[in-house]
Amino acid sequence: MSDIEFSHKSATDFIRKIIREDLASGKHQQIVTRFPPEPNGHLHIGHAKSIHLNFGVANEFDGYCFMRFDDTNPVKEDEQYVEGILNDVRWLGYDWGERLTHASDYFERLYEFAEEMIQKGKAYVESLNAEEIRELRGTLTEPGKDSPYRVRSVEENMTLFRKMRGGEFEDGSHVLRAKIDMSSPNINLRDPVLYRIRKVSHQRTANQWCVYPLYDFTHGLSDALEGVTHSLCTLEFEDHRPLYNWILEEVSAPCLPRQIEFSRLNLRYSVLSKRRLIQLVEEEHVEGWDDPRMLTLSGLRRRGYPAAAIRLFCERIGISKSENNIEMNVLEDCAREELDKTAPRVMAVLRPLKVVITDYPKNETEEFEPARHPKNPEMGTRTLPFSREIYIDRDDFREDPPPKYFRLAPGKEVRLRFAYVIRCNEVIYENGKIIELRCTYDKATRSGVKAEGRKVKGIIHWVSIQHSVSAEVRLYDRLFAAPYPGRDDPERDFLKDLNPESVEIISKCKVEPALLEAKPEDVFQFERVGYFCVDSKKSRPEALVFNRTVTLRDTWAKLEQEKNPQN
Ligand code: ATP
Ligand code: MG
Repeated sequence: MSDIEFSHKSATDFIRKIIREDLASGKHQQIVTRFPPEPNGHLHIGHAKSIHLNFGVANEFDGYCFMRFDDTNPVKEDEQYVEGILNDVRWLGYDWGERLTHASDYFERLYEFAEEMIQKGKAYVESLNAEEIRELRGTLTEPGKDSPYRVRSVEENMTLFRKMRGGEFEDGSHVLRAKIDMSSPNINLRDPVLYRIRKVSHQRTANQWCVYPLYDFTHGLSDALEGVTHSLCTLEFEDHRPLYNWILEEVSAPCLPRQIEFSRLNLRYSVLSKRRLIQLVEEEHVEGWDDPRMLTLSGLRRRGYPAAAIRLFCERIGISKSENNIEMNVLEDCAREELDKTAPRVMAVLRPLKVVITDYPKNETEEFEPARHPKNPEMGTRTLPFSREIYIDRDDFREDPPPKYFRLAPGKEVRLRFAYVIRCNEVIYENGKIIELRCTYDKATRSGVKAEGRKVKGIIHWVSIQHSVSAEVRLYDRLFAAPYPGRDDPERDFLKDLNPESVEIISKCKVEPALLEAKPEDVFQFERVGYFCVDSKKSRPEALVFNRTVTLRDTWAKLEQEKNPQN
């Protein structure tokens, strides 16, 4: 297991309770779990919940966790996703060691189990087509009807199934079904399909197979073959549990894993289904799977979320069976907490306004050495040059300041962070627009030297013009404007709920020269502005691009409050 700190050792959710009981009673000596993604898309924050649970539980109880690709559908799967998924899990801080497996590793064993079921009279070859099968299946209120092929003999079934495997039949002409109960109130038990013919190449087994097992048949048996003790999955599989157990009991499975369901994670103002994420990517509503607005693990990473923040989030939301619609600020708060501890501080001016300090010597440069982090002296210092001409943020100056405005205004004073107190004496306009401020400074107020009797409430950030570096900054907002995209009206396309203002690009920012050393994915706190990450795809040393990871404070709580005052 990896060396990350697991701080959820004291978690007491219902799954850990069951596991503790199973260990105490001696039912299991070692806990085995698995994380079983289907390689038909990249991982999202919902998967992180499952990864954190499966690997977390294994680590906590000194067991192990398989990283298993559930690759039974050759049509939808793609090798490109496999590498991405492994990268994402590794990045999140988890290590499967030697235990990287695929459902397709077990195709031969699964086929043998299928023959065993036929031998025992527990499976039959169905020759109705999909439409006819559906018609006989019944509904939630009406029982299904037996297929005429249900009475085939074991010999006939065996011959047909072998011919299916041998490639003698066309796609859709036959399937293998479990023989359970067509009148079961649980539709999953109405003779579910176990195998179908698919004459397509599989990304791992190539053309070795033309029959492929279905999920329900594959999953439990793969669990059993790996010695999984607790098969943890999301609630939509609850109705499949009787089938999961039935299959394991009908064949000579090496062990009987226990399936336990928990609720899926949903985040308001986002979508987490792979089908929808694929649509966003394919129709180019976003720049790709790793678009910083996507709640995919690669998107969050590119946005600047540290893996530790995602683990903290998973810990905080916990595990239960109740609906799990989480507010985005819970996730954002985790990023703030983590980044407050780890992100170096710098100054960056997003909307520059020129300030000339008229009484500062013309060709002089001073160098300040502020700490990179106020609470972590071991992070060292950086060199911050100061000169006669600086930029401040346009937002930090008001011609007609409202009461209690503590930043710069005509005739008013403000402290430049780490430098001096300046006073604004003159405002220069061009075509009615403010283009420059003329200020004077007070030499006695050099940072660290307390000037007597001087009360200056405001502190603002700045950069020296001559030493500053240009940068582009991307401010992100939620990708969707509605809390449950496409939900309230089933006819409504979730794309209609896309937030048209989910990104604002500010191209003429000025940042302090320490950022020239920044590497892709480094995250900084731009003082007073927020946390920003060097974009791993677009940023170059000569043209820096930053993604805003998160604001310093939760600005949405306030907005929501204004929109829904009853909350
Ligand atoms: P989606 O519905 O997003 O397409 P999926 O469930 O089909 O996802 P899989 O690749 O089958 O995706 O998922 C692998 C594991 O991750 C499964 O055990 C699944 O239950 C779990 N998982 C997927 N989405 C979530 C979620 N939102 N919250 C918690 N666990 C999830
Ligand atoms: Mg799935």
